[in-house]
Amino acid sequence: MDIDDIDTITVLGAGNMGHGIAEIAAIAGYEVVLRDIKEEFVQDGYENIEWSLDKLAEKDQLTDEEAQSAKDRITPLVDIEEAVADADVVIEAVPEVMDIKKEVYSDIDEYAPEEAIFATNTSSLSITELSEVTDRPEQFCGMHFFNPPVRMQLVEVISGKHTSDETMDAIEALADDMDKSPVRVRKDSPGFIVNRVLVPLMNEACWAVHEGDADIATVDSTTKYGVGLPMGAFELADQVGNDVSYHVLDYVNSVLGRAYEPCPLLEEKVEADELGKKSGKGWYDYEDGEGVEIPTDQIDDDLEQRLFAVMANEVAKLVGGDVAPVEDVDEAMMLGAGYPEGPGKMADSAGVESLVETLESLYEEKDHPRYQVSETLRETAEAGGFYASDDGGESERSYEQIETEVDGAVGHIAIDRPHRMNTITVDMLEEIEHAVETFEDDEDVRALLVTGAGDRAFSAGFDAASAAPGSGLDAAEMSRYGQQVFGAFEEAPMPVLAAIDGYCLGGGMEMATAADMRIASEGSNFGQPEHNLGLLPGWGGTQRLSAIVGEGRAKEIIFTAKNDYDPETMADYGFVNEVLPGDEFEDRAWELARDLAAGPPIAQKFTKRAMLAGRDDTDAGLEVEASAFGHLFNTEDVWEGLAGLPAGPRPRVRG
Ligand code: NAD
Repeated sequence: MDIDDIDTITVLGAGNMGHGIAEIAAIAGYEVVLRDIKEEFVQDGYENIEWSLDKLAEKDQLTDEEAQSAKDRITPLVDIEEAVADADVVIEAVPEVMDIKKEVYSDIDEYAPEEAIFATNTSSLSITELSEVTDRPEQFCGMHFFNPPVRMQLVEVISGKHTSDETMDAIEALADDMDKSPVRVRKDSPGFIVNRVLVPLMNEACWAVHEGDADIATVDSTTKYGVGLPMGAFELADQVGNDVSYHVLDYVNSVLGRAYEPCPLLEEKVEADELGKKSGKGWYDYEDGEGVEIPTDQIDDDLEQRLFAVMANEVAKLVGGDVAPVEDVDEAMMLGAGYPEGPGKMADSAGVESLVETLESLYEEKDHPRYQVSETLRETAEAGGFYASDDGGESERSYEQIETEVDGAVGHIAIDRPHRMNTITVDMLEEIEHAVETFEDDEDVRALLVTGAGDRAFSAGFDAASAAPGSGLDAAEMSRYGQQVFGAFEEAPMPVLAAIDGYCLGGGMEMATAADMRIASEGSNFGQPEHNLGLLPGWGGTQRLSAIVGEGRAKEIIFTAKNDYDPETMADYGFVNEVLPGDEFEDRAWELARDLAAGPPIAQKFTKRAMLAGRDDTDAGLEVEASAFGHLFNTEDVWEGLAGLPAGPRPRVRG
C-alpha cells in the first residue's frame, strides 16, 4: 500500500483519541468511517468533532467550507463489518486492554480488504503481540498520536517485529499528510520513546520524595527551573494521571526489569485514588487546595544532576537498543513532551561523563538497578557526548569589522568600526551573516545581542565609500543582500535584541528594525535620512519599519528624512522598548538579553515564525524596494550625498 492508494480511513473507537484522529483525517481530505460499539458513543464522538471543527473555523484556522466538508467526509457507524469493508487504513483507538484490542483485530481481519493496513494507537501494549492475532502482521504497525491529536504535532510510528518497510513508509507518509510530524520508532519497545523517557523521570521524582531526599516543592522547582522542563515532575504526573504512569511503569518493569520498578509512593497514590487532575487530587490538591504551586527558587543542584543522569541513561538505552537514534529521541521529546531542547542535547550540555559518575555514586549509595549505567551511556561519555561527532569540523573564523562572543546563553555581535561610526560595508554584511549562522548552530546560544562598539554610534548607516560607483557593485543586488542579512535576525529561532547607544541611522536603523526588540540610551539619534539623498531605505526599511510603528509613522520617518529622532519619541512610536540613562544602558542590555535567552526556545521560535508568517506579502515589497534602490543609486549626486553622513561628536545625556 502506497500513500497514493489511501483514500478511506476507518477509526475504531470514538472516544478521546478516536474522535480527534478521525477529525484530522477528515481535515486532511480522507473519507473517514468512525466506529464505536454503541450508537450513542459514535454520536458523542461525532458531536465532539463537530464542536472542534466549528471552533477551528471560528478561530480562522479553517474556512467554514473546509469545516463543513470535513464533517461531510465522516460517516459514523456501529456495524463493524460495514465499518471496515472499504478501509485502506484502520486506525484503532479502543480501550487500552490487550484482550479487547485482540478481539477487535481478529474481527476486522476477516472483514477488511486484504491490502488494508492496521495501525494501533496503543500507548504501551506490544505491537508485535497484537499483530500476531491477524493474518497480516507485516501490514500492522503502531501509530501513536498524542492528546489532543488536533493540537499535538508528534506521531510515533512504531515498527512491530513483523512490520514491513512499506507499511512504515505508508503510515509515516499518512501522518505527514495529516500535517503531523512522524518520528519512527524502530523497535516495539515498551513506552516507545516519549513515555519511556517521561515516566522513569516521574518515577525518579517519586523515589526522591519516598527516600526523603527532597520534598515535592523542591522536586518540581528543580525540574522546572533547574532542569528547564516545561512542567514540574509532579505537575506532569498529575496531568498524565498516576494510574497511567503506574500502568506504563509496571508494564516496562515486566518486560525490561526492575530498573523500572514503580516507586511505592506512586502505587499508594493510585490505591488512594489520587490520580491527579482528573480525580481532583494527586500530588497537588485541585479541589480543596491551591492546585499546582511551584517555587521558582527551590532548586537542588544534586537532585538536578540526578534527574539529568536518569534521563540521559534512558536516552542511551533507547539509542543503544536501536529503538531510535538520538536525533529522533530529541525530536520526539520536543514535539511530544514540549521539551525546550532534546534530552540528548541537554545531557551533552550537562556533561555525559559527569552524569555517568553521578549514576555510579547513586548506584553505590542506593543499590537499585535504576542507576545502573547503560553500556551506551558509557560509550557516549567516552565519545564526548551524544552529538560529539557532529561538531568536529566546525571552522573558527575571525572577523575584521565585527566582534563576536558567547557570554552565557547570549551570542553578542558588536559592530566594530567605531572610527567610522560603525557604518556598514558589504564585507561587514557578509561577516554578520556568518556570525548569525554560527550562533544559530551553537546550541548554547539562546538569544542575540547586537551593539555598536564605542560610544558614538550603534551604526550611522551604510558606508558609502565601500561601494563607490565604479566599484563594480550592483546596487539592487547589494540592497537584496542587506535585506537578506538583516532578515536573518527575523528568521533566527532565538530572540534578537538591538541595544542602541548613539547614532542609529539609515542602514543602521534598518539593522535595528530587523531585531525583535530595541533598547536605547538617552541621547541616541534615530532616522532614515535616505530621501535627503534621493534614495530610499534599501535594506528592508520600506517594509519592516511599518510592521513595528505602523505605516503612518513609517512614512513620516522616511519622508521627513530627519536624522535626529530622539529615543523618547521612538519609544512613543513603539520602535524603542526601553530608554535608559547612559550609565545603566549596558547592564540593562545584558540583563534583558539574558532574560530573553532564558525564555522557552521552542515557543520563542514558533512565535517569531508565526508573526513573520502573519505579515502581508513582505517579500514582494522587498523586491520592489531592491529594484528601486538599484535604479536610484545609479546617479553621481546620490553617491556624493551619501559620502557626507553625519560626523562629529553626538550630543550625549548621561544620567
Ligand atoms: P476512551 O475510553 O476515551 O475511548 C475508547 C473508545 O473505544 C470508547 O468510546 C469505547 O466505547 C470504544 N470501544 C470499546 N470497544 C470498542 C470496539 N470493539 N470497537 C470500537 N470502539 C470500541 O480511550 P482513549 O483515551 O481514546 O484511548 C484509546 C486508545 O488510545 C488507547 O489505546 C490509549 O492507550 C490510546 N492513547 C490514549 C491517549 C490519551 O491521552 N487518552 C494518548 C495516546 C494514546
